[in-house]
Amino acid sequence: MNVDLHTHTYPASDCSRIPYRDYVGWCVANGVEGVALTNHGDVDDNRKLEGALAAEGVLLLHGSEISTLYGDFVVFSPDLDYLAGFRALQDLPHAEDLDENAALVWVHPGAGGGRSHSAYFSGIERMVAHVVDGVEVFNGNWLGERYVAVAEQVAARLGVARTAGSDAHDAARLMTCYTELPDPVRSTADLVDAIKSGATIPHRRATPGRRRRLGIF
Ligand SMILES: [Zn+2]
Ligand SMILES: [Zn+2]
Repeated sequence: MNVDLHTHTYPASDCSRIPYRDYVGWCVANGVEGVALTNHGDVDDNRKLEGALAAEGVLLLHGSEISTLYGDFVVFSPDLDYLAGFRALQDLPHAEDLDENAALVWVHPGAGGGRSHSAYFSGIERMVAHVVDGVEVFNGNWLGERYVAVAEQVAARLGVARTAGSDAHDAARLMTCYTELPDPVRSTADLVDAIKSGATIPHRRATPGRRRRLGIF
C-alpha cells in the first residue's frame, strides 16, 4: 500500500487549508487506499475522519506532529487517547514515556522545528537516536537537495526506517510524497510495526500533475 504519512487538516491544524470534507473527497477521487493524518498536537480530526474514510474504503492512520528543540517529530500510535496527550510544542519525549506500540518519526530534519524554530546542526541525531524509529527523507515542502541530503544522512547514521509524506496543507499537494508499505497494513498498529522493522520505501513525485490520475496509488 502507498500511504502519504504526513498530512494536515483544518481546523485541527490552523495552518492547513484542507477542511476535512475536502480531505475525504480528495482521497476518494484519487483512489487512495490509506493516509496518515498528523495534525499538530491535535487528534480531533482523526476521530471525525476515521469513520467517514472507512465508509469510503480508505484506511486512516493516526499520528500527531510535535515540535521540539531538536526538530519536528510525528508520533504514530493506534491509541488516539495516548496521542491526545502530545502537544504541538513540547519537549522531546523520554524513551520511557513512549508507548511500545508507538513509533516516532523525525520529520524534515534538515528544516528544523516548524513551531519551535529550532535549527538542525550536524550531530544532533546523536541526541535523539534513543527515541527515533524512522526519518522522513522526502517531505513535500522540503524537497531541496540540501534537505534531502541531510535527511538521508541522518537516516543512514541512525540506521532506521526511511519514510516520505507530503506535509500537505492544500488538498492538491496530497501524495506528492508517499511511503510504500510492502507488507499488508490494516491498522496504525501495522504501520508502527512496518516503521520499527524498516519495511518502508519512500517515494516522491517529480510532476505533481500526474498524481491526479485515478487509482495510481
Ligand atoms: Zn513540521
Ligand atoms: Zn507537518
